[in-house]
Amino acid sequence: MESGLATMALDETMRRRLIEAVAHKVIAHADELTALDQAIGDGDHGINMKRGFEAVLADLNGHAAKPLPDALKAVGMALVMKVGGASGPLYGTLFMTLGKELPPEPSVDDVVRAFGIAIDAVKARGKSDVGQKTMIDVLVPVRDALAAGEEPAAAADRAAEATIPIRAVRGRASFLGERSIGHMDPGARSSALIVAAVVEALEERE
Ligand code: ADP
Ligand code: MG
Repeated sequence: MESGLATMALDETMRRRLIEAVAHKVIAHADELTALDQAIGDGDHGINMKRGFEAVLADLNGHAAKPLPDALKAVGMALVMKVGGASGPLYGTLFMTLGKELPPEPSVDDVVRAFGIAIDAVKARGKSDVGQKTMIDVLVPVRDALAAGEEPAAAADRAAEATIPIRAVRGRASFLGERSIGHMDPGARSSALIVAAVVEALEERE
């Protein structure tokens, strides 16, 4: 962990690797995300996310050439424009806020602080909070794990699993009421995938 995120020299190669890792991870799991959304939503989360990250990859070199803050803002913009659904504006808000709040070469403390602000922006946008069976239920534990010096990918996986018994109170899944219980939230899963991809890309660097 300390090797992964303590003061990162995020050069263009590393930025490209990070963007590619996240995009490929999400695209590779599109069918799984769609299946999760078929159970408690309208079955488009994988399709939405795949479309968004394919758009990100289409301008991979352009994004990677930018310093980290601008790269994150550009990725966020692409997600807002291409993902659609509820998740597009929410992930767009997450990435754009990270771009606004992070310095070009962040320390772990910078990441914890910026991630907290970005989560607050997503909450405000979605009128959501923890315990409502959404991506927030993964993002908050990931921030907490980073702040505690714990492994964020493991925390993300545990947190996604922990959405299974929750009754949804936000998003389409909330229309199902009690019947949303027993299924993992698709946005929680996509958030865990994104975190896993970032951690893997940073670990590969060593
Ligand atoms: P839609 O629900 O419009 O079909 P997606 O299927 O792409 O959009 O995304 C669904 C995911 O978005 C949910 O699984 C949930 O994690 C997240 N989500 C939906 N509404 C909210 C909200 N108000 N706050 C936070 N996350 C939300
Ligand atoms: Mg959906």
